[in-house]
Formats: sequence, C-alpha cells, structure tokens
Amino acid sequence: MLRYLIVDILLPLLVFALLRSLFRGLFQTRRDMTRQAAPPSRPNVVVGGELKKDPVCGTYVSTGASVTRTVDGEVLHFCSKECRDKYRAA
Ligand SMILES: [Zn+2]
Repeated sequence: MLRYLIVDILLPLLVFALLRSLFRGLFQTRRDMTRQAAPPSRPNVVVGGELKKDPVCGTYVSTGASVTRTVDGEVLHFCSKECRDKYRAA
C-alpha cells in the first residue's frame, strides 16, 4: 500500500512539480531575452537634467529639454517656445 502510494501518487506529483518549475524557468529566460532584444521605448526626455518650473504655465521641465531665456542674468526654463514668447510679452 505504501509502495503504491509512493510510485503512483507521489512520484507523478514530483515529476509534475519538476516539469512545471522547468517550464517556468524556460519561459522566464525567454521573457528576459525578449526584454534584452527590445528595451522599452523611453519618451524623448533628456536624462540627468534638473527640473525647473516654467514661470508661464507652471509645468516642470527638464533643463536638458527646456527652452531657455536669460532674464537679468537668471536663466529661465520654459516648456515651449510659445511659453517663452508669452513671458517676453508679459
Ligand atoms: Zn509652458
């Protein structure tokens, strides 16, 4: 009876668990490979830039991607040329 239990129930269960973990490992590797082949597309933002507030619309813009204008020796950062022109008009 005990031998029957081990061979017919525990052994298939063990094999099943082993196969499942094996398959899971395979899928994990494949997912990793896909990730390496096609990295997630990043929005076109310059990394490492400091965030500055646009004085016109209040949007925070990266200093690397902003439109700048120097007023009284102070560099102002704008999200767009439209905002920069608006600031000039104001
Ligand atoms: Zn703006």
